[in-house]
Amino acid sequence: MSFTIHGTGVSGGIAIGFAHLVSHATLEVAHYVLPKEGVATEVARFDAAVAAARAEMETLREHIPHSAPSEFGAFLDLHLMILNDSTLSKVPRQIIQAQQCNAEWALKQQMESLLEQFDEIEDSYLRERKADVIQVVERVLKALLGHPSRAPVALSPEQSCILVARDLSPADMMLFKQHQFAAFITDVGGATSHSAIIARSLNIPSVMALHHARQLIREQELLIVDGEQGVVIVNPDRQVLAEYKLRQNQLDLEKQKLKRLKSARATTLDGVPVELHANIELPQDVGQVRESGATGVGLFRSEFLFLNRSDLPGEDEQFLAYRTVAEEMRGRPVTIRTLDLGADKHLGGVSRLSANPALGLRAIRLCLAEPQMFHAQLRAILRASHYGKVRLLLPMLSTLSELQQALHLIENAKRSLREEDVPFDPAIEVGGMIEIPAAALAAQAFARQLDFLSVGTNDLIQYTLAIDRTDDTVAHLYDPLHPAILQLLAHTIKAADRAGVSVSVCGEMAGDATLTKLLLGMGLRVFSMHPAHLLAVKQQVLKSSLPEVSGMVQKMLKTDDPEKMRALLAKLNA
Ligand code: PEP
Ligand code: MG
Repeated sequence: MSFTIHGTGVSGGIAIGFAHLVSHATLEVAHYVLPKEGVATEVARFDAAVAAARAEMETLREHIPHSAPSEFGAFLDLHLMILNDSTLSKVPRQIIQAQQCNAEWALKQQMESLLEQFDEIEDSYLRERKADVIQVVERVLKALLGHPSRAPVALSPEQSCILVARDLSPADMMLFKQHQFAAFITDVGGATSHSAIIARSLNIPSVMALHHARQLIREQELLIVDGEQGVVIVNPDRQVLAEYKLRQNQLDLEKQKLKRLKSARATTLDGVPVELHANIELPQDVGQVRESGATGVGLFRSEFLFLNRSDLPGEDEQFLAYRTVAEEMRGRPVTIRTLDLGADKHLGGVSRLSANPALGLRAIRLCLAEPQMFHAQLRAILRASHYGKVRLLLPMLSTLSELQQALHLIENAKRSLREEDVPFDPAIEVGGMIEIPAAALAAQAFARQLDFLSVGTNDLIQYTLAIDRTDDTVAHLYDPLHPAILQLLAHTIKAADRAGVSVSVCGEMAGDATLTKLLLGMGLRVFSMHPAHLLAVKQQVLKSSLPEVSGMVQKMLKTDDPEKMRALLAKLNA
């Protein structure tokens, strides 16, 4: 049966492929006691489920597509080894017999006892294999519960894999970055959550906030994901499929056309140059940055180096990562944002219990509370500055005293390097992110003490409109055109101009081509966005005449009627 589910489109494009349900470790299993004569049948049922899971993995192993990452085979071997180990394939049989319980319950109990043992392991690699044990157990549980995955279909551009999950943390998304999935869809998540930002950085369609997709969609069902409209069509009929294939081809063609702009200079019709920089999460993203024709890295979200691991990357490891980016950008600016952990990004991918994490010990607040960790990062960034044009960016400033403390710690880090004769750029520029309304209102005071400002509109909108970025139930309130947001932005740009420092926008607004003219009209000349959006934004810059857009934007800044605001924006973009 064909049906449609609506959610929030967070990354554009159309994908057509087969569903792969991402399971959760917390699979609910029932517990019941068996009559004595039912025990042998239950043991046989368990053995059959183990055999089915094994057969499924072996078939998968034999059908690994050429396009799959090289670790995929090793990962399946590891899972087969875990399944074949007697702790999983034999001990649950004994539990069924001893406790006269159902097979699911016996397996889950054995998994929990194994996981406890894993927690005590010193070796971080082995400890991290916990997740693999959980995945293997889930496979057997699925077989027991009567939902065996259908025979795996080889991945190909036409029959590719669409991940269907309840939720994906930014850490999960980083793991998926190594794979080539066609699309992601999740039941929860807001459009500017970090998970959504990573989905966009993967450059594949994604729809979030679907609410019941994980329950309604079955493994290997055919899906169409329309990331633009936020729609997922399950089991589409032939006609719908043909229409979407056509649309997919048109989009591909448009993308190809945009590629011609790669080497064009981003200059307005009246000859004003505009800097288009890229946002990255990991050093390996630099290839995509160069591919996009970006003239610098405007935001390196360094905290992603800290996710999916249980230890902190040391100074040397960080230095190598930053140096790689600095060198590969060959003298173009590389803006490294110091750690923005807290809120939805945590060490080891684990959330700390805090009633309001976005308002808690996050970003610069966390760094000032952990001076040793901050010192190591500052030294690593400074050392990398010797190998390119590195700039240092402080996230989530709210008070001048935080800024002064951070500047003092930067001086300390410089001094320690000087004492060791370690080279760094003594004139390294230090900037601050304007993402809290208080900082936007006091932008001039921050600008006087900094070399540049960068506006993080994702957080600025979150904090100004009081909407949790990760909570899809308030996602509809996210509005970059809210008069308060436009006033704060215009005020910040003006304050930076008055203080004679440059200002950029590095939040998602900068990559939204429908807002390019608006931002240009406010006086913005530096944009930083995910590389996938850069050419569409460049196209808008090339079509803009500053005297014209400035006049219209002044009108927009005077409007507080949402209807009128949208009409003016439509006119601006016409
Ligand atoms: C922002 O808040 O707009 C920003 C760029 O930072 P992040 O999205 O990483 O919080
Ligand atoms: Mg932010």
